[in-house]
Amino acid sequence: MTDRFTTGDHDVFLVVDIQNDFCPSGALAVPHGDEVVPLINKLAAKFAHVVLTQDWHPRGHLSFASSHSGKTPYQTVELAYGSQILWPEHCVQDTAGAAFHDGLRIPHAELILRKGYHRAIDSYSAFYENDRKTRTGLAGYLGERGFRRVFLAGLAFDFCVRYSAEDARREGFEAIVVEDACRGIDLEGSVTATHELFNALGIRCICADAVDGTPTTA
Ligand SMILES: [Zn+2]
Repeated sequence: MTDRFTTGDHDVFLVVDIQNDFCPSGALAVPHGDEVVPLINKLAAKFAHVVLTQDWHPRGHLSFASSHSGKTPYQTVELAYGSQILWPEHCVQDTAGAAFHDGLRIPHAELILRKGYHRAIDSYSAFYENDRKTRTGLAGYLGERGFRRVFLAGLAFDFCVRYSAEDARREGFEAIVVEDACRGIDLEGSVTATHELFNALGIRCICADAVDGTPTTA
């Protein structure tokens, strides 16, 4: 019998980067990325507390291949803080691509956490930027709110969800990934690597139907 998870006041649902550019026809489309939207809406209704993350880059961001002459997307470069995969231009601040997917319906979300706004540092994780030192402030926020368990879902499983789950653990929260409400990019075995890392860190991957919760109230 699979474990069940009943949501309560110490639980928060972290919905990662459900933005147009990560959905089919977006600039950095995650295959089948839009398929998770209805499931995430349903899941969110089981949590009293929801936080949304939003990738939010200035023009000319250093994670864009177009910011490096002669480079193309998915190549790797060395930046001041280490290796960085180069991406197509995506989630540029105040563009349609950076907007949340139209089907996302989570009116009771309490915080929208933007990340990736420093031009010279990418930020896969909702907690730390890619230098692995610069904090976004999310750990402080979640701690002050008294949350202990962080449930995660969204895009992409093997990048922003992975790093956010890892950092939630690092910050002392229990991290639980709702895997059927995620989709991956899978660059060079990154989905397998993510499962291995989660196993090593004690991060559980569960299915959405293992989550129970009462509909949210004010
Ligand atoms: Zn980005």
